[in-house]
Amino acid sequence: MNLQEDIPLAPLTTLQVGGAARYFVEATTETEVREAVDWALLREYPMFVLGGGSNLVVSDAGWPGLVLKIGIVGIEEHVQQDRVRFNVGAGEDWDHFVAHAVARNCAGVECMSGIPGSVGGTPVQNVGAYGQEAGDTICRVLALDVEDMQTREMAAEDCGFSYRTSIFNSTHRGRYIILRVAYELTMGGSPSIRYADLQRYFAGWAQPPSLVQVRDAVRTIRAGKAMLITAGDEDCRSAGSFFKNPVLSESEYQSLVAEATSRGLQIPSYPMVSSQKKVSAAWLVEHSGFAKGFNLGRVGISRKHALAIVNRGGATAADIFELKYMIEQRVREQWGVQLMPEPVFVGF
Ligand SMILES: Cc1cc2nc3c(=O)[nH]c(=O)nc-3n(C[C@H](O)[C@H](O)[C@H](O)COP(=O)(O)OP(=O)(O)OC[C@H]3O[C@@H](n4cnc5c(N)ncnc54)[C@H](O)[C@@H]3O)c2cc1C
Repeated sequence: MNLQEDIPLAPLTTLQVGGAARYFVEATTETEVREAVDWALLREYPMFVLGGGSNLVVSDAGWPGLVLKIGIVGIEEHVQQDRVRFNVGAGEDWDHFVAHAVARNCAGVECMSGIPGSVGGTPVQNVGAYGQEAGDTICRVLALDVEDMQTREMAAEDCGFSYRTSIFNSTHRGRYIILRVAYELTMGGSPSIRYADLQRYFAGWAQPPSLVQVRDAVRTIRAGKAMLITAGDEDCRSAGSFFKNPVLSESEYQSLVAEATSRGLQIPSYPMVSSQKKVSAAWLVEHSGFAKGFNLGRVGISRKHALAIVNRGGATAADIFELKYMIEQRVREQWGVQLMPEPVFVGF
């Protein structure tokens, strides 16, 4: 185990704010993970598990205990007729895995091309994009339970996947360290092009697109919204979408629609289970006075995406917080909706 001290965390995150980790270990095997956890438990140091740092806001004070970065890599493949099970190390880069699966002509994750971060991060908030969610194809999660130091193999049903939620970021937050994730994909399956952006992209094509073409399309669309990490694009210095799309009850939704209608506006919404409605957080932010490109000192809103708070250079976590509060407050005042942030706040 390579224990380091006072390691700056900002460069290990996409938002690039925050202080240092008092102690830092990158573990590349399960044994190293166990060793690091034992070390922290023995000293009663708080521990934070780091993946690709793409969904984090680290406090300016940093982290007082151990930051454990998961660096377990490797992709194993088990083929059974047209079903292919990929058993992937949690530290593997997610988009590298998607590229691999698409190159193997396997469908199920192509719409999630270009999402930054690690494979281990995908079950945590059940990542999703363009009509696919990680939970649709995850069949097993192998995790270390830090309560009793047992390794557990969990089926998808045990992970409690729903919109941007799993047991790993809700009921059992902090309990499991994800070591490997297994995805079951369909070899030769058709790509999913359900979402409007993709349908527009392929409108007029004589042939249905291939998996590779859908992957390329998703990456192109994402790049246009600064949702693909691209060197030199300042609007990518973000944690992706900063707020979740609010899920409203039927009556909450109806009063929001009535308010919008009275102002001559129409709010985009998507049906959910049991008569709930998911409404567009981006719309709420934009219609509360925060246009794309809005600036507040060293932070602002991406010029290409209304939901991304960006570090314009040299920002602190306190700057990010100030803008977050401002947006939440204005949306509450204007529309009576409480926005919930999507990133994880570390050391606050
Ligand atoms: C430009 C941009 C675009 C994005 N687009 C999308 C999108 O389209 N859809 C979407 O859903 N998300 C999106 N995100 C958010 C982010 O990429 C995902 O949430 C990603 O899965 C986070 O993974 P990570 O490895 O970076 O996790 P981190 O940011 O390092 O950590 C996030 C959380 O997961 C936990 N965690 C990470 N790895 C492990 C592990 N091995 N075991 C246990 N816990 C772990 C951490 O403790 C933390 O609580 C975007 C982010 C950016 C910057």
